[in-house]
Amino acid sequence: MLIDQFGRRIDYLRISVTDRCDLRCTYCIPEGFTEFEKPANWLSFDDITRVTAMFARLGVSRFRLTGGEPLLRKNLPELIERMAHTAGVQDLSLTTNGTQLARYAGDLRHAGLNRLNVSLDSLRRECVSAISGKDSFDKVIHGLQAARDAGFERIKINMVPLPGINIDDIDDMIAFCIDNGFILRLIEAMPLGESGQQADYFNLQALIETLQPKYHLQLSQKVYGGGPAKYWESPGGDFTLGLITPRSQHFCETCNRIRMSVDGTLYLCLGQDQSLALRPLLQAGCSDEALENAIHQAINLKPQRHEFNENPQKIIRIMAKTGG
Ligand code: SAM
Repeated sequence: MLIDQFGRRIDYLRISVTDRCDLRCTYCIPEGFTEFEKPANWLSFDDITRVTAMFARLGVSRFRLTGGEPLLRKNLPELIERMAHTAGVQDLSLTTNGTQLARYAGDLRHAGLNRLNVSLDSLRRECVSAISGKDSFDKVIHGLQAARDAGFERIKINMVPLPGINIDDIDDMIAFCIDNGFILRLIEAMPLGESGQQADYFNLQALIETLQPKYHLQLSQKVYGGGPAKYWESPGGDFTLGLITPRSQHFCETCNRIRMSVDGTLYLCLGQDQSLALRPLLQAGCSDEALENAIHQAINLKPQRHEFNENPQKIIRIMAKTGG
């Protein structure tokens, strides 16, 4: 088992398979950003599968592929198939912006992907374009339809509420999720990189006070994926709302995850700099024992908490670099 120095059990690894993205969401990758990792430094599928197998041996059972936009990585279903067949991998999920989903949903499902999160910040085409920098709305909607047709259930929609931009869209998004059986997850914008630092966050603690009576929401005791979201449910069970509140109520004391970037660097916290590079070891053909030791060493570096409120300028890494 992986236990950090604050007694937290780490059982969740998020793996970035690329730091590139076809969108430029205002709070994520800045317009004109060019500092992407060189393909020569990307971990191969062999390396990712090896790291997955080692983490699984050490008690990590949940894995999520992310990015950048993970569906831009060539032959991703092949990696998913290999990971899904790795001993100890119990839950394999993917976070995507949905623009390529219509093309890949069937292959992802067939390869063994269990769950999907799709990011969508509004149901108004012009608002989606303004936030994402591209007219991506139709593609995402078709992608969601294809994902449902492929058999994915309880798809989660990730929405970042931005004051003055898409707050008034939340009710429509709730109706959309109820109609389609999607779970809505609202995420407070985090000050990651200059783009994240320029984004105002919307306090979800305050929002739930309005949404709770309106939709008769009750705090859920169920586990919806083991992440940091607090879930609320409507009485008939036709709507589930997850709130991720790193700014208004941080949940670092229950943090169970670490992240690996496309170049094989383990990041121990989204909001801190501690890291450990696995790629040099993998490149040198390290033994399993050396890989295991490096992972333990990394876990010992995991900081107690982020400082998004106390020190918002601190992290210059954008979310897409760490793996969101
Ligand atoms: N490209 C994929 C997608 O859009 O879902 C996966 C990677 S993206 C970095 C993962 C999630 O991070 C998205 O839901 C996005 O909205 C969120 N995100 C990116 N930057 C963020 C920030 N500064 N604060 C909060 N969420 C952010």
